[in-house]
Amino acid sequence: MAFELPALHYATDALEPHIDKTTMEIHHDKHHQAYVTNLNKALEGKAEASSSIDEIIKNISKFPAAVRNNGGGHYNHSLFWNILGPNKGGEPTGALAEAINSTFGSFADLKTKMQEAGATRFGSGWAWLSVSADGKLQVSSTPNQDNPLMDIAEVKGSPILGIDVWEHAYYLKYQNKRPDYLAAIWNVVNWDAVAELYKKAL
Ligand code: MN
Repeated sequence: MAFELPALHYATDALEPHIDKTTMEIHHDKHHQAYVTNLNKALEGKAEASSSIDEIIKNISKFPAAVRNNGGGHYNHSLFWNILGPNKGGEPTGALAEAINSTFGSFADLKTKMQEAGATRFGSGWAWLSVSADGKLQVSSTPNQDNPLMDIAEVKGSPILGIDVWEHAYYLKYQNKRPDYLAAIWNVVNWDAVAELYKKAL
């Protein structure tokens, strides 16, 4: 069965003014669709075409670059749409908030670390909050469409929050001001979704 573009569970203008409608339309309908289309092409006729995207990502070293780039793109964007939402923002609560405080000091410290990870990623990539195999929260960044779930990642873990720092994610509204985008995105993070992924990762 071929991979499919997941529908957004909110309108393309729902994240305004922090993420604009046109960026959302192009990002979801064109960029993410292209990753899905090219992933399906790269896996055409192969047994792995019927694997889950998680299984492919976890074993990415066994696949060619086209699967790494486009499979990563599909996995990363599916997670990204899921951890954003309208009328969100605020702060994490419960077990996730406690883990953030004990690991990073405070929620503000986590934001600073994530923003640094995103701002200092040269070229295209992602900033991540992930959960290590022994259940620890960790901040990292990856190039291109790599992610911490990949067996080739420097910092391995289960991603629970990913911030896309490709220019296509912010350039129409923020132009060269990537740090402004990284500061604004906290207004639309769906912490319930992040907490759900945290629970699953443990
Ligand atoms: Mn993107």
